[in-house]
Amino acid sequence: MTEAIKVKSLYFGYGDNHVLKDINFTIKKGDFVSIIGPNGSGKSTLLKNIANILKPEKGIIEVDGKNIIDYSVKELAKKIALVPQDTHIAYEFNVFDIVLMGRNPYLKRFERETDKDFQIAKESLKLTDTLHLKDKGINNISGGERQRVIISRALAQQPKILLLDEPTSHLDINHQIDILSLLQKLNKEKEMTIVVVIHDINLAARFSNKIILLNKGEVLSIGNPKEVINYNNLENTYNLDMIITDNPYTNSPYIIPLTSKEKNNYRKINKKVHVICGGGTGGEVLNKLDLFGYRFSVGVINIGDSDWQLGKKLSAELIEEMPFTGITDKAYKKNVATMEKSDVVVLTSVPYGKGNFKNLEAAYKALEKGKPVYLIDNYQKYKRFDYVNGKAKKILDDMKKKGLKLVNSVDELLLMLKKHV
Ligand code: ADP
Ligand code: MG
Repeated sequence: MTEAIKVKSLYFGYGDNHVLKDINFTIKKGDFVSIIGPNGSGKSTLLKNIANILKPEKGIIEVDGKNIIDYSVKELAKKIALVPQDTHIAYEFNVFDIVLMGRNPYLKRFERETDKDFQIAKESLKLTDTLHLKDKGINNISGGERQRVIISRALAQQPKILLLDEPTSHLDINHQIDILSLLQKLNKEKEMTIVVVIHDINLAARFSNKIILLNKGEVLSIGNPKEVINYNNLENTYNLDMIITDNPYTNSPYIIPLTSKEKNNYRKINKKVHVICGGGTGGEVLNKLDLFGYRFSVGVINIGDSDWQLGKKLSAELIEEMPFTGITDKAYKKNVATMEKSDVVVLTSVPYGKGNFKNLEAAYKALEKGKPVYLIDNYQKYKRFDYVNGKAKKILDDMKKKGLKLVNSVDELLLMLKKHV
C-alpha cells in the first residue's frame, strides 16, 4: 500500500453552504503536500474532514487503505494528527501537560503515562525547539511558541501522517523557515507524510513535492509545483497580476505579485518587441506583452494561424502571408525592416520547416546587426523542432555563439526585457 490518503468524491456542507464539491485526490506515503487556495476556498474544512472531525455529506476518505469511519478514534489518532489553525487553548495547562496529551491514543482508560510517554513528550518538544518552555503556562508564551508547542503535541502522537492548518501564519520569517525545515526533516528522516495548508505560495512551491490548489471548494489543479504554479491557475483563483519566475536557489517556481501601480508603470513602456511564433507557441508571450503594456509586432505569420488570430485580437502589427505559399521575398523584407525598428526580437519554440525557415534567417540577420534576440526555450526543445534537415538547429547554434539569449519562460523574458527599457 503506497497510498496514505485517498479522497473519493467528497462533498461537505455547513447546512446549506456547500463548501466542498466532488473532491478527488490521492496522497502517497512520503509525500509533502501543500494545500493552497484563497480564503474561504475550503482548505480548513478539507483537513477537518480528513481528520474525521467533520463528517462528509458524501464520499469516502481512506487512510492507509481503510475508510476512516472504520477506525476507532484512538486508532485513527495513531495514524494521523492534526495541528489546527486556531491553537487557542481555553484552560491554563502548562506546556508539558499539553504535549503529554498527544500520548492519549496510546493509553488505556484511566491508565497513567509511563516513563516512555514522558520521554516521547520531551523528544517532541526538543524537535520544535521548545523544551525550555515546558513548565510555562500555555497562554503565557507567544503565539509562535504556542504554535510550535501544538506541533509538538501532534508529534507526541507519533502519527504516520501530519496535517497542519497554516502552521506558519503567526510566525516571523525565521520561524516559518524553521517550521518548514522541521516538516521537511520529519518527512525525509521519519518518512512522515506531510499535508500542510499554507498561504505562502512560494514556500509551498519550495518545500512540497505536490500542491493541491483549491478554488471555491473544488480542486482546480493538483500536481508538482511546476504543474500547479502557473499563470492561468493563479490568475483564475487569486485574480492576481504577477510574474512567475524560478527561485534561483531551489529551482522551484517563484511568484512576484504586482500592485496595480506597478502594473500601470509597466503600461508606460514604450518599447517595441517583434515576435516570431506560430501554431499557438506565441499565446503566452503575446498575452503578457499586451498585459504589461509593450507594443509588439508578429511576423511573418500565416493568415488564420492561432497566433495570427491572437495578434489580431490584441491589435498587434502583423506581417502576414497566405498559408502554404512559404514566405515571399516581399514579406521577408518587411519582416527584416520591422525587426530593425524593434527594440528586441523574441523567438518562441515554434518548429521550423520549409514554410517559415526564412523567419529564422531574418532573426539571424537582426542579431548580426546587434539587435537583442531572445529565444524562449525550456530545456532546449528547439533541437527537436527542426524539419529542415538540421538547418534550423545549426543556425540557432550559431546564433547562440553570437549572443542569442536563452530564457526558460515568458516571465523570465519579461524580467530581462526590463533591462532594455
Ligand atoms: P479556508 O480554510 O480555505 O479559508 P474554510 O474551510 O475555513 O476555508 O471555509 C470554507 C467556507 O466554509 C467559508 O465560506 C466559510 O465561511 C465556511 N465555514 C467555515 N467554517 C464554518 C462553520 N464552522 N460553520 C459554517 N460555515 C463555515
Ligand atoms: Mg482555513
